[in-house]
Amino acid sequence: MPELPEVQTILEALAPSILEQPIDDVSVLWPGVIDRPPPSVFVDWMRGRRVVNINRRGKYMLFGLDDERTLVMHLRMTGEMRMTPAAEPYHKHDRLAFHLANGRDWRFKDMRKFGRAYLVEDPEEVIWKLGPEPLSAAFSADYLAARLRGRTAPIKSLLLDQRLVAGIGNIYADESLFRARIHPLREGGSLRMVEISALVGATRDVIQQALAEMGTTLRDYRRPDGSVGEFQNSLQVFRRTGEPCPSCGTPISRIVVGGRSTHFCANEQTLT
Ligand SMILES: [Zn+2]
Repeated sequence: MPELPEVQTILEALAPSILEQPIDDVSVLWPGVIDRPPPSVFVDWMRGRRVVNINRRGKYMLFGLDDERTLVMHLRMTGEMRMTPAAEPYHKHDRLAFHLANGRDWRFKDMRKFGRAYLVEDPEEVIWKLGPEPLSAAFSADYLAARLRGRTAPIKSLLLDQRLVAGIGNIYADESLFRARIHPLREGGSLRMVEISALVGATRDVIQQALAEMGTTLRDYRRPDGSVGEFQNSLQVFRRTGEPCPSCGTPISRIVVGGRSTHFCANEQTLT
């Protein structure tokens, strides 16, 4: 599932191809991809527009249009963005195609069909619940301490809550908890200030490194030119069950937390 580093990498790669390019027309290959407005209105509103700025909040992509509306997109589990020649036949999982004036297509492909597009006056109507960006000053140890106080849910589940911090998913939650040496089942409210500070630092480090390495490709994630990310080579615990911990050699453990596969070093990330 694409998380913050994957979404950011995709946006940076797409920008030169789509910015300021008039969108001549839109093909809706599966109407369910459009959350709002109704698909026919969506097409009317998109036709002739240009993307004039590109931003990201958490895992949401924000394409600002020249009429001041914003196209908000979320890739969910298997969404991909690709640039193709307009004449290239559609892939069977292509859901949406923006036909640019320069003869290129900007296509959204999504095997599992959970990805969504929202065309809105104000992106806040889609993203208003999101917590701070992990690399922003707002994601501080004091902030996290205040939000964890009294919480009995496992810290792993809390890190995945987009209202607490935006953009973290299963991969980067496990990697951050390992680097901070915190057991994923620890109750959020039980973390000491020194652990909270370590977790904030570890989260920032992991996200920064994953951005520099252009994301993690385990299965579906591809950059818009079809190439893979590199952070899969830097994973220390995620999907390394049974392999030696890079720090102490203990085989990596796997448990399920809140329905999500969770990986950690049972020797260094303890419950007490
Ligand atoms: Zn270890």
